[in-house]
Parts: sequence; structure tokens; C-alpha cells
Amino acid sequence: MARKFLLCFHDFSVWNYQKVAPILEELKDLAGAPFSVLVIPDTENATPDAIDGFKKTLQQLKADGFELALHGYKHQAEFSQGRSYAGLIGMNLTNGEAEFAGLSEFESSRLLHAGLDAWNTLLGDSAERPPAFIPPTWYSNKFLPSQVHAEKMLYEDRYALVTAKGKRYSSPVASFAGIPNFMQKTAFKYGETILKLPVGLPRIALHPVDFPERKDRIHDLIRVALNCGRQLTLYREL
Ligand SMILES: [Zn+2]
Repeated sequence: MARKFLLCFHDFSVWNYQKVAPILEELKDLAGAPFSVLVIPDTENATPDAIDGFKKTLQQLKADGFELALHGYKHQAEFSQGRSYAGLIGMNLTNGEAEFAGLSEFESSRLLHAGLDAWNTLLGDSAERPPAFIPPTWYSNKFLPSQVHAEKMLYEDRYALVTAKGKRYSSPVASFAGIPNFMQKTAFKYGETILKLPVGLPRIALHPVDFPERKDRIHDLIRVALNCGRQLTLYREL
């Protein structure tokens, strides 16, 4: 079996789709194939025009072969009540972006279903279920993996992917958002290393804030992945 890698563009939303869609097309040309786009489905407070444009862009991406996956609900934690201590630490480390960190079983399920409902509103009720669920910043709670699997989606954490059927892939991730400048070089080196290793299913996780500052290095990293014989794959193919 050929060695594979995932290219995952995080945080695609109603607030950034106009700016990000051209970046996705450019990356697709470079990678030679469409890849996975992680969608924040909530559109609260956006204008009807913006929501309409977002829906059309999502349909266009699908038509172009991109894989759309579910990335939380709002991507921002709503409140701190009912979170475990570890969850509160997760929230503080990520400026409140760790939406699912340390939630109770009930709250975790509520937010997951709010995310799925928002997904259906965006993509239409006949839309297929997203192939994968990726909690914002990968902070989680102990109930979320089984809740995601019960909805027949792949669950991703920082170190591994587990399909709905329970197949587990060891999956180190190279990610650059929120990494201090003096550590960037190390982060890219780490990315090269995990791509060149003969094992695992490495991920390159990109964020809107990576562009344009880190564009050239990211392009180089994708070339490394392709040149070392890895094939781009998608969550739905696992
Ligand atoms: Zn995110």
C-alpha cells in the first residue's frame, strides 16, 4: 500500500471564505488534487448575502472534489460553566477556541448536534453526513470520541485518527498557527520529518492565518510530501 498523507485546511467559515477560497484553489493546483477542508458551520450574525455566498462556495468546493469535514460548531467556547479543570486550562491556552474542552456528556452532545444541524442548514438536508469531525484545537472531552463515532464520522485528535468502524491510524500533525516565530523553523522541520518517516499517516494542518506569511514554506512542505512518495488522501477514503 502506498504511503499517504492528509492535507487539511482548518477554520473555513462564513467570515473568511472569500479570502480563503482562492488559497484553496492554489493549493489544489500545487498538490495535484483536491483535499480536506474543515468547515466551521455556524453563521450567526452574518448577513444573508454572506451566508448565501458561503453556501455557494461550499457547493463549488464540493463540485471541485474537495472534501468538507465538520470542525466544531462556533469554534469559540460559549461559556466556561460545566467544564472540567482540564477543559478550563485548554480554553485558556487557546484563547477560548477549545470549544469542546472538558465539556460534560450532555453539553458535548448538544454542541456536536448543533454543529450537525448547522451543517445541514448550510449544505441542505439531503447533504451527506460529514466524513470526519475535528474538534477545534483538538482539545476534547472524554465523551466526544464515542459521540462522533455514534454519528458514523471519523474522529481526529492531535495524534491519531479513528474511523467510525474503529480503525485507528497513528497520525502526527504539522501545524503552524499559534506557534511563536522563533519556533517556526522547528515546526517545519518536524513536518518534513513526519512526512519522510516510513510509518504513520501524517497530516499537514493549515489555517487562514498561515497565509500569506508562511505560504512559501507551506508550498515547499507539500512538495516534500509528494517528492518522498506520499499520496494525498482524504478522510472518507480511510
Ligand atoms: Zn480550528
